Amino acid sequence: MSRAALLATLRGVVGHAHVLTHDDPACDLTAYEQDWRRRHRGRALAVVRPGCTAEVAAVVRACAQAGVAIVPQGGNTGLVVGGVPDASGQQVVLSLQRMNVIRSLDPANLTLTLEAGCVLHTAQQAAEAAGLWLPLSLAAEGSCTIGGNLATNAGGTQVLRFGNARDLCLGLEVVTAQGQVWRGLSGLRKDNTGYDLRHLFIGSEGTLGVITAATLKLFPRPVAQLTAWAAVPSMAAAVTLLGLAQRHLGADLTGFEVMGQFALSLVDRHFPALRVPLWQESPYCVLLENSAHDSEAHARARLEALLEAALADGCVSDAVVAESLAQARSLWHIRESIPLAQAEEGLNIKHDISLPVSRIPAFCADTDAQLAQTIPGVRLVNFGHLGDGNLHYNVQCPPGADSVDFLQTQEARINALVFDAVQRHGGSISAEHGIGSLKRDTLPRYKDPTALQLMRAIKQALDPQGIMNPGRVL
Ligand SMILES: Cc1cc2nc3c(=O)[nH]c(=O)nc-3n(C[C@H](O)[C@H](O)[C@H](O)COP(=O)(O)OP(=O)(O)OC[C@H]3O[C@@H](n4cnc5c(N)ncnc54)[C@H](O)[C@@H]3O)c2cc1C
Repeated sequence: MSRAALLATLRGVVGHAHVLTHDDPACDLTAYEQDWRRRHRGRALAVVRPGCTAEVAAVVRACAQAGVAIVPQGGNTGLVVGGVPDASGQQVVLSLQRMNVIRSLDPANLTLTLEAGCVLHTAQQAAEAAGLWLPLSLAAEGSCTIGGNLATNAGGTQVLRFGNARDLCLGLEVVTAQGQVWRGLSGLRKDNTGYDLRHLFIGSEGTLGVITAATLKLFPRPVAQLTAWAAVPSMAAAVTLLGLAQRHLGADLTGFEVMGQFALSLVDRHFPALRVPLWQESPYCVLLENSAHDSEAHARARLEALLEAALADGCVSDAVVAESLAQARSLWHIRESIPLAQAEEGLNIKHDISLPVSRIPAFCADTDAQLAQTIPGVRLVNFGHLGDGNLHYNVQCPPGADSVDFLQTQEARINALVFDAVQRHGGSISAEHGIGSLKRDTLPRYKDPTALQLMRAIKQALDPQGIMNPGRVL
C-alpha cells in the first residue's frame, strides 16, 4: 500500500479532521513530535487520533498492511524519548487523547474502568467524586494519561504503600499488533486462568500493542492525610527516619520523599513564591505523609510522636507539620516543582535509578565523591521516592559551564560512572521512567542476557512485523 493510500484509509477510519500531516500548513505537529524535555524532535508521517477501540484496531490493521510503524502516544510526558516518532517521517503517531471516556465505576467492587486517553488527574477526580481514592500520583498528573501510566508502569509518590501502576491494574483492553482486540477488562482480584497477559503489556512502552482501556483498583478515602517536612543531617539519617516511620505508622505511611539541598535551592531560586522551608539548614529534607482511617486527631498524635522520637534519635534536626490541607498541598507542590526548577536551570543528565534502601547511603557517598573528583564543581540534583529506593540522581554542569556542551561531552562518561555504581550496589538503571530510546543502547550492558533473550522472544511472538514502537526498549 502506498503512503497516499494509507493516509486515505486512515482518514476513512477516523475522519479527515483526525489525521494530521505536514502537508497541511495549518497543522502544527510540534506537541506530538517533540518530547517533554525537548531533547528530541522527530517527524511523523501522520498523527492519527482515533475516537474508539474499533478505530484503533482499524488504524493498526491498515498500518500493518502497509508495513508502517506505529508510535502510541498519551500525554507525551515520558522522560525517555519513547512516545515520539523518529526523524524518518515514516512513522504514524497514534494519539489516544480522544479516547477519554470513564466507562464505569463500581463502588462495591472498588474499581474504575476507563479509556486509555483519560488524563490521570481526571481519573483521580472521578474516584474522589465517588468518595474513593485512586492512589497513583505524579507531578505530570495534569497531562499524563492512564494508557501512558500503564505502558510505562509509572511509579510516583504512593508506591511505598500501593505499588506501581501495575499493582493498581486489574484488567486491560488491548489492540494487538495485528489489529485484534483483546477484551481483558476484568475487575477480578483472583483469576488464575493461564498466563497473565496484562503484565506483558504493562511496562512494555507501546512495543507490544496499544492499551485502549483499563480497570483500576480504588480504595476507601482516608479521613485524614497529614504531611510533615523534616530536615535530616544526612542520607543515612533519612533512611533511619524511614525505618522509624514504618514502625510508628505502619500501612498509614503513604509517602516518603527525599530532597537534596541543591534540588531545593533550585526551587527557591526559580519559584521563590513557594517558600521552601528548612532547606538551608541541612543537606537533605524529607517529606512524609500519614494517611489515617480513624481520626485526624489520632493521626496527628502519631505523626508528632514519630517526629519526637526522630528528634531524640538525631535523625531529624528540625520539622514542621502542615496545619491544613492547603499547607500540605504547598509542601507537596514544592516537591513536585523540582523537575520544573531543574528544567529552568538548564539541561542536565537524568538518572532514574533504584537501589535497595539499605544501600542508598553508601551509593550516594561513593558516587557523589567519584563525580566530584571527575568533574570539579559538578552539582547534583538528588531527590526522589526514598521509600521505594528510587532516586532521581541528576547531574547538572558546574556553575557558569555551558549545559549543552556539558551534555554533549560528558553524558556518556557520567552515565557509565553512575550506572556502574548502581550495578555494584545491586540496583536498576531505570526505576520508573522506562527505557524508551534514551536507554535502549545502555540496557544490554546492565540487563541479564537471558532476560534480554526472553524479552526479544516475546517481542517477536507478539509483533513479528516489528511495527509497534520500533527502536524502543530493545
Ligand atoms: C514533571 C514530570 C514528573 C514526572 N514524574 C514521574 C513520576 O513521579 N513517576 C513516574 O513513573 N513517571 C514520572 N514522569 C514520567 C511520565 O509522566 C510518566 O512516564 C507517564 O506515565 C507517561 O504518561 P503519558 O501519557 O504522558 O505517556 P507518553 O509520554 O505519551 O508515552 C510514554 C510511553 O508509553 C507509550 N504509550 C503511551 N500511551 C500508550 C497506550 N495507550 N498504549 C501503549 N503504549 C502507550 C508510548 O509509546 C511511550 O513509549 C514525570 C514526567 C514529568 C514531565
